[in-house]
Amino acid sequence: AIGTEIRTWFEGQWHEGDPAIIRAADHGAWLGSSVFDGARYARGVAPDLLAHCERVNRSAKALMMTPTVEATDMVEIVREGLALYPADAALYIRPMYWAIDAAPGAIAPGETTGFAICLESIPLASEDATTTLTTTRFRRPVLESAVVNAKAGCLYPNNARMLREAQAKGFGNALAADALGNVAETATANVFLAKDGVVFTPIPNGTFLAGITRARHIDLLRRDGVEVVETVVTFDDVRAADEVFLTGNMSKITPVTAFDDTTYAVGPIAKRARQLYWDWALSETDVDTGRPLGQDRL
Ligand code: PMP
Repeated sequence: AIGTEIRTWFEGQWHEGDPAIIRAADHGAWLGSSVFDGARYARGVAPDLLAHCERVNRSAKALMMTPTVEATDMVEIVREGLALYPADAALYIRPMYWAIDAAPGAIAPGETTGFAICLESIPLASEDATTTLTTTRFRRPVLESAVVNAKAGCLYPNNARMLREAQAKGFGNALAADALGNVAETATANVFLAKDGVVFTPIPNGTFLAGITRARHIDLLRRDGVEVVETVVTFDDVRAADEVFLTGNMSKITPVTAFDDTTYAVGPIAKRARQLYWDWALSETDVDTGRPLGQDRL
C-alpha cells in the first residue's frame, strides 16, 4: 500500500483498511491479469472521476474480463466512501478488477472477476513541486507483446524498473521511448514540452497510456488559445524545449527542471496550465457540456 488510512470497497461494502481479498490461486495474483485506474479526490473535487471509472471497464475488456460494475455505480460507491473522510482529505481513488478463475495460459478469465475500490490518503504534491528526468534503456512495449490498450497491472513492473533505474542515477523519473525510439511517456505520467509558445506532446500510437489528465490539459490549453500539437516527439526535441512538464492523475501537472544535463525553468505555460486545470476542476460548470459537475464534485 502506498497511502495511509486505507479503506477498501469489496463485495457490497466499505471495509476499514486493506483486507486480504486476493488469493494465491487467483489468476490475477498468479499470472498478472489485473487492471486498475487511478483518480484523485482533493480540494473537494474528484476531477474526471467518471472517465477513470469508464476506463477501468475498458481495460478489463482488453484483458477479456467482463466488467461487473457500471462506471456510474463506481462513482456512487466512491461518493459513499468519501463520506467516511473529512472534506479536506486528499485521496487516491483506485478501482480495480482481477481475474479469479482462468486456465493457466489464458488471458480470458471466465466468469469470475474480483472488483475492489481502494481509497488511500495521499497528500497532493505542493504547488511548487517539480521533477527531473533521465533516459532509460527500458521501453514501452507494443500491442503485439503486451496489453498496452489497457491500464493493466502487468505493465507496471517494466515501468517500475525504469523508475528504479532513474532514481538510482539521482533523477525523479524516466523518460521512456516507444518501440521506434521516439518519446513515449514517463514511468508514471504523460509528457509535454513547449517551444516558442507552442505546446507539443507525443501523439498516441498505442504504446503508451494517453492519459485522461493529458486530454484534459490539451483541451484546456486549446480553449485558452494555446496551440497544442500532438506529433512525434524526439529526445532532441525535449532537449531543445523551453519548458517541459508532466501530467497525470496523481499530481495533475508537474514542471520538469532537468532532462539529464539540460535544465529548464518553470515557465509561463506550465504555470498557466496549472491555473487552467484547477480553475476548471473547482468550477461549478463543465466546460464541455455546461452541466453542473455533479458526479465529479463529490
Ligand atoms: N502514463 C502512465 C504510465 C501512468 O501510469 C499514468 C497514470 N495513470 C499516466 C500516464 C497518466 O494517466 P492519467 O492522466 O490518465 O492518470
